[in-house]
Amino acid sequence: MKLGCSYFGNRILKHLKTDLEELRECGCNLVVHTFNENDLMFYNKTICEMVEMTREMGFEVYIDPWGVGKVFGGESFSNFVMQNTDAMQMVSDGRPGGCACPNHPKFRAFMREWIDAAVHTGAETLFWDEPHFYLPGWIGGRPNTWGCVCPVCRKKFEETFNKPFPEQENEDINKFREDCIYEFLAELIAYTNSKGRRNALCVLPHRDSNHGTANWERMASIPHLQVFGTDPYWYIFKEGLDYVERATKDVQEICAAKGLESQVWLQGFKVPGGREAEMADAIDIMLKHGVTNIAVWGFLACSHISWIRPDNPELAWETIKNKFREVRNQHP
Ligand SMILES: [Zn+2]
Repeated sequence: MKLGCSYFGNRILKHLKTDLEELRECGCNLVVHTFNENDLMFYNKTICEMVEMTREMGFEVYIDPWGVGKVFGGESFSNFVMQNTDAMQMVSDGRPGGCACPNHPKFRAFMREWIDAAVHTGAETLFWDEPHFYLPGWIGGRPNTWGCVCPVCRKKFEETFNKPFPEQENEDINKFREDCIYEFLAELIAYTNSKGRRNALCVLPHRDSNHGTANWERMASIPHLQVFGTDPYWYIFKEGLDYVERATKDVQEICAAKGLESQVWLQGFKVPGGREAEMADAIDIMLKHGVTNIAVWGFLACSHISWIRPDNPELAWETIKNKFREVRNQHP
């Protein structure tokens, strides 16, 4: 049984050691370290030292391209986007999308550099976190727009679909985005595999066809993938635990059919006051469906990141830790 936790917001080894001891005490045995573009440029060796310490203390380590190119999920900015405005996604309102285009060769090359650095940290698994095209509902997004409509995407669409690039978002565009995300990930995952590392993919929980990763069966069929999962964050999407259950069931079925390890993420941030116990219930749902890799986002219930801090940070974190201890006792 893997019990994981994401870790970010601290690059001081002295504090990491204390935090890892706290994670180990509650039965956690997997740490997901974020490795954003700021880390890549300014904390490269520090991240290597952090991964080394985490492994030495007995944890399995995943490493996460957190917010890289703004193509992956994460609360961090992208220097690549600022420095390569020609590789940015363009949006239907004629303005830039503020995120790199997964089809642009410059971004593909940059991702290979990120992978080389991620491999160098010594982490066992590269964690492909919420890959997506421009989303109008995300930070910096604009309502009633869609992307990407950049010249690279237009050319690629016209070559593969053999018809003019649509002026309105339609099913062809949805299919195109799915194809592109699949191809983008397949390239990165194959490259990672060639470097001797494992691959874990976490897709967004959205299932409507205008999300590029909504076809989970297809995303889970990318070669050289070992772990597949999603993050059904029910509090932020104003859903109930049935939302967690549907996602968990689907992930578990797909992974069983494809021989993959299933991983489901627990929302441990922005927990509304008085609803902390739902987190323990969510873990029970995951266990009921046979998930053997359960991870929480993130350490301290994200108390240190005020944007997504729970209403009762200490209670939220204690609830998570108590549940982790209980699960670990049942699965030593
Ligand atoms: Zn594009």
